[in-house]
Parts: sequence; structure tokens; C-alpha cells
Amino acid sequence: MRLSRKSGAKSVGKTAASIIVLAAITFTAPAYAQTGSSQNSEAAPTAEDAKNFVAETEKKMFDYSVDASRVYWINSTYITDDTDALAAKVGAEGTTMAVQAAIDAAKYKDVQGLDPVTKRKLDKLRGGIVLPAPTTEGAATELNTIATKLNSAYGKGKGTLNGKEINGSDIEAAMGTNRNPEELSEMWESWHTNVGAPMKDDYARMVEIANEGAEELGFADVGAMWRSGYDMPADEFAELTDKLWAQVKPLYDEVHCYTRGKLNEKYGDEVQATTGPIRADLLGNMWAQEWGNIYDIVAPEGAGDIGFDTTQLLTSKGYDATKMVKAGEGFFSSLGFEPLPDTFWKRSLFTKPADREVVCHASAWDIDNVDDIRIKMCIKVNGDDFVTIHHELGHNYYQRAYNKQSYLHLDGANDGFHEAIGDMVALSITPEYLVQVGLLDASKVPSADKDIGLLLRQAMDKVAFLPFGLLVDKWRWQVFSGDIQPAEYTKAWHDLKLEYQGITPPVERPADAFDPGAKYHIPGNTPYSRYFLARILQFQFYKAACETAGWTGPLHRCSFYGNKEVGAKLNKMLEMGASKPWPDALEAFTGTREMDGSAMISYFEPLMDWLKEENKGKSCGW
Ligand SMILES: [Zn+2]
Repeated sequence: MRLSRKSGAKSVGKTAASIIVLAAITFTAPAYAQTGSSQNSEAAPTAEDAKNFVAETEKKMFDYSVDASRVYWINSTYITDDTDALAAKVGAEGTTMAVQAAIDAAKYKDVQGLDPVTKRKLDKLRGGIVLPAPTTEGAATELNTIATKLNSAYGKGKGTLNGKEINGSDIEAAMGTNRNPEELSEMWESWHTNVGAPMKDDYARMVEIANEGAEELGFADVGAMWRSGYDMPADEFAELTDKLWAQVKPLYDEVHCYTRGKLNEKYGDEVQATTGPIRADLLGNMWAQEWGNIYDIVAPEGAGDIGFDTTQLLTSKGYDATKMVKAGEGFFSSLGFEPLPDTFWKRSLFTKPADREVVCHASAWDIDNVDDIRIKMCIKVNGDDFVTIHHELGHNYYQRAYNKQSYLHLDGANDGFHEAIGDMVALSITPEYLVQVGLLDASKVPSADKDIGLLLRQAMDKVAFLPFGLLVDKWRWQVFSGDIQPAEYTKAWHDLKLEYQGITPPVERPADAFDPGAKYHIPGNTPYSRYFLARILQFQFYKAACETAGWTGPLHRCSFYGNKEVGAKLNKMLEMGASKPWPDALEAFTGTREMDGSAMISYFEPLMDWLKEENKGKSCGW
């Protein structure tokens, strides 16, 4: 839904608006009778009617989104029972509006003589609901009840550690730091069993209802509806993601092989063999999706210390929250972007207030769809938050760049783009950049022999994530299409994890388990392909920027700070928003119309060479 456009870096998919589905709606009058046109309601709708319908819907949604954003902002920066109630009310109104618009849009989809812009906007309205309810009596209520129940079951989920209950955020943290294989296994198993299994029947019922809703809107099933948002036929999109995966898989395979060897050295053959898949609970993450938490286990000797610490640099130069954000603004100013408006500095939340509850999770907001952009963060003076600030500002500059577009085009070119911009900017925080902004002394720039450590740390998160980012929706697409039936839910999930990630559960899984439910985005119903795309795109954007800047050194050391030509090209892509098919936007910045994983391969090239050397003589694969 549009109002989740306040796309927070790490909060993506966790905003209230995106979680739940559909308030009950009844459709009575033919859609074209509501457009205010003078058409006789008996007549078939015309292209003109469709155009009017889109214009009126955009106006209504624009106005709604401004009010809704203000309510959500207040709720997130001042959490009380009252602001929770207001946010829930506004959310329900938005859902009703989106559902009505989708149903109306479906009625115009086959009208003859639609202009391409109207056609595309109708498709956006029609396909813009995550979980569509059918119009049959009671279906919307049932779907909404199930979706709410699944979401809250996840939120209340508990695992155990040494037999004692442990909640979701604590168990997640413990999986990152605990190095005891029995305890890791206990946490993994208890979490998957306690959280997932009770959801199974509800999930299966939810799939049935939502599929009926998708069919009413003219889609084969919900998965096809999700894949429809990429300016290409649903099947071609699936093929595109496979093609991208094939490009980056060789790099993943080397990281997998190297990591497996290190885990074997640490834990021994009993726990982790030198061949076959990796035990899922040993990788520092409940879902084995990002492995950065076990960097200490895999770190190459001598490359761990890069000779400086960003946190210490920030502290010694007297940076506070505002000064850190100013530095982030400076990055964009150096590319030629206008400074942030005064309202940004007055209305953003930079630090955690002492006297009230707020949502500290970093996010970027666009309140009025024009210039009232803000970030909301509880900034601490450290290197991680310095990177996050650059990332969030990437969202804000994107939002401002496309503010001349009509409502349905106020968005990224596809849902992978918004995150990728922020991440591209975050990749640019290289030691060389820190020198350029006066944080690091030029003599302290780490020498090339530290590169492997820097790159391996990045790869443990960014490369390790790729197969997981792909398989979550591979599983869901097959569930929605009926290729995976409820009796096979868990087996199919682990089959995919084995095939793509080379990961295996630490213990045998019972037939009545529902292990996919133990990952938030499944009960939360958040599409996942966007995260896979964002990982690929951020490197593609970064490489294009570095080429424009004339960078000739190793890609991972490139800084395009201060390059106005990069800024101008970037702006060309950003200002298009979602107004054109995404290949047009991609071409404006990178010169190519294809999403391409080869930039990621270039970035990690020195690591790839090193890993191949390290893995020599091992039997890689699983
Ligand atoms: Zn983000």
C-alpha cells in the first residue's frame, strides 16, 4: 500500500500498514458510475472513464496519504494507547480505500483504447494489495482475522534456552553470539516448533481465501499478482531472478565452502562435517540468512584490524547526531543535490527522547509528498549509525527527486530500487571517503592487504543473503500456485534451503511442523523478492557511479564523493520515480536496461580469488 512508502531501512515490511489486509468492503455501484463523469451507468466504460477514475483515485489517495503519514509519524514518535488507536483507524481506512480501488481498477482493465500511462496505473491499483480478499460475504473479515492472528502469534512467539523461555528479539540476538552447538540447536528447534507449527492450518486457509481474491482481480493466484509489479509477465520475472542468481552463485559457493571449513575447524566433524550442507544453527542467524555475526570464526588472520575505527574517529572529532546527519547531507550536496529543507532539521527525530516511547527503528519519511521529508532514528555516535544515516537519506533524496510525479508514480522504479539507492550510498563510505570528509587522516587509509578482511565481512552478510532472498518467494509462489500443498509446506521449505543455500536443519523435522512460519515475513505476508533485487542492484548502481566518476582502482575502494556528473545521472533516474517501466529508470543511470549481477562479482573479485586459493583441495558444494 502507498502509505508504507515511508520505507524504513530496516523497518521494511514491519510497518503497521503493510502487515494487514482488508477491511470488509461491499461493492455496489459500477465503478464508472463513481467517477463523476456524465456517462450513463448502463453503458460500457470507456477509456475516458478509466482516465477519470484514475485521476480521482490519485487525488483521494494523495490527500489521504498526507493525513495518514502525519498520524503514523506521531504514533511512531509518541507511542500511547491513543496514538495506537488513531493509527489503527487510519490503517483500516487506507486498506478499505486500496481494496475498493483495486476492484474498480479491475473493471477497467480490458477497456479498449486505454493510453499506456492509464493502463499501467490501473495495473498498479489492481495489483497493489498484498493479500486481496474476495468479495464473497464474510471473506474479508475472515482473511483479516487470520492475518492479524498470524502476525500477532509471531510477535508473541517464544523459544527456549536451557529450558527457559526466551522471546523473539532475545533469541535472535543469542543466535548471533552463542557458540555452544547444543544450545544453538535447542534455540533453533524450539523457535521453529513453537512459533511455526501452530500457524499451519491458518496459513493454509489464508492462502485459499487470498487466492480467490486474486482471481477476482484477474490474476492466476496471489504469487502471480506479486510478480506482476515488475513491468513484465509474471513468468519472465521468475526467470529473471533465476538468471541473476546464476550469475552470483559461484561467489556464494566459495563463501559457503570456506565458511563450512572454518566451522569444521571450530566445532569438529561431529557438529559440522567438511562436506555436505552447513548446519543451519551455526551461522549466527536463526534463518541462516546473513552470517556476519560469525565473522570472528571466519576472519582471516591479520586482516581483522583495518587500522582505524569509525566510531573512534567520530568521537574524537566531536561529532554528535546532528553533525553526523550534516555529513550525510554533505555527501548528496557534493553530488549537486539541493540541501535538505529547514523542515527536515526541525521535524526529524535524531535522538531517543528521555520522556516518551518511540519506535527507534531507523526509517525515512515523506509526509506531504512534496518536501516535508524526515528521518526518524535514535542515533548513537558510532560507525554503524553513520552508515545507516547515509542509507536513510538515500530514501529521502529519492522521495524528493520524484515529487513532481503523479501520486501512483511517487515510488521507486520497482520495489528493489528504493533500498538499493540507500545501500549504494552506504557502500560509498570507504576509507577514501572518510579522508575526503576530514574524518580520517590520509596516512591511515588501510593498505590493500587489509582488503580481504573488509570484503569478507561484507560478503558474510551481502553474499550469504542472496539464496535466502530468492527462496522465500520461490516457496511462496509455489504455495500460492498449489504446487506445494499444505502437507508438504515444511519439507518443501527445507528442500529449497538445501538446494539454494546448502543448509540443513540441526535436527529431524516432524511432519506436522510449519518451519516457514518461524520467519517473520511469512506470517507477516511481506513479499521478499525486493530484498534479493536490492542486493543485486546496489552493486550495479555503485559500479555505474564509479565508472561515471572515472574510477580506475579496485571497485570496493571507489568513492564518487564530489562528482557532479554522477549526481546529475543519478537524479535522472530518481526523478522518474515509478513513472516509467523500471528498465527505463535503470538505463538513465547505468546505461543498461538489464538488471545484472556482474557488478557484485567485480566488487568481490579480490575476495573471490582469495577464497578459491583457500578452498583449493576442498570438495566444495553439497
Ligand atoms: Zn532503507
